[in-house]
Amino acid sequence: MHKPVHTNLLRWYEQYGRHNLPWRHSRDSYTIWISEIMLQQTQVTTVLERFYTPFLQQFPTLRDLAAATEEEVLKQWEGLGYYTRARNVYKTAQLVEHALPQSIHELIQLPGIGKSTAHAIAAFAYRTPVPILDANVKRILYRFFGKKKASERELWALAYRLFDDEHPFEYNQAMMDLGSLVCRSKEALCVHCPFEMQCHAAQQGAPLELPEKKAVKSVPIRYKDIVVFTCKNRYALKQRSGRFLHGLWGFSEYEQNRDNAEGQMQQLGSIVQKYSHFHLYADVYISYEPVEGHEYLTLEEINKLPLSKADIKIVKMLT
Ligand code: SF4
Repeated sequence: MHKPVHTNLLRWYEQYGRHNLPWRHSRDSYTIWISEIMLQQTQVTTVLERFYTPFLQQFPTLRDLAAATEEEVLKQWEGLGYYTRARNVYKTAQLVEHALPQSIHELIQLPGIGKSTAHAIAAFAYRTPVPILDANVKRILYRFFGKKKASERELWALAYRLFDDEHPFEYNQAMMDLGSLVCRSKEALCVHCPFEMQCHAAQQGAPLELPEKKAVKSVPIRYKDIVVFTCKNRYALKQRSGRFLHGLWGFSEYEQNRDNAEGQMQQLGSIVQKYSHFHLYADVYISYEPVEGHEYLTLEEINKLPLSKADIKIVKMLT
């Protein structure tokens, strides 16, 4: 039902919304899906500046993506991180080939598409009148309804409660923009917010107290030695087969303090790479000893492979 609070929101969106985001002008489920997946855990400006357009230039359609190799997709995703997203995008392309299904129920069955992404695809590509629930919308709901804590189920119920089913598309876009521009996590600009008069947190004068902050977990540090084995201007790499960074190529990693007493290795430098669940501090060595189970490649060949950010730093050291 359309309410006064919706009128205020729509007016605000008309004036201040981010109308120039490329996926806003698309009804193509493929490009909307790619934007939704890239925007999980990555900021709009990073996605826009470095990843979204090049990815669609390389794979303009779902068919092009389905016809690619996983390695090509990972290469295109390189630097964006959270590579499970890229592998799931690829798996889904293989499964559907021509077009993503329209119903939320069917979308949720596909790899990497959860309830939130399925709602976003249905709302933006197929104009299904359903709310979306990303991190920005959640924050607004917590504050608007004055909740300190809420389960996922409760948040969906609140999302439907505030939803404007007469202007569903504009409402959803406006909520995302409001969360990003006004109702920010560390700064709530309530005087500029169309919800100010109805918002529980604003009326209580304490928007930043909601939702309750989670305790910040300390991230462990892993110390490693990374060894670049080389012979005749070629460098030894192998493709990762474990869960972490699966499918990406990398140099050899070892626990630190392994035996370097022979002096066979020469230190090239050190790198630090921050991942979400640990920080890597690594000393990087070059070795002229032979190594098995690797492929010896030229720098030109290496640059065509998908590499982790840490390995890209090492390639820069070599060049
Ligand atoms: S009034 Fe303030 S706390 Fe409430 S939704 Fe707007 S910015 Fe957020």
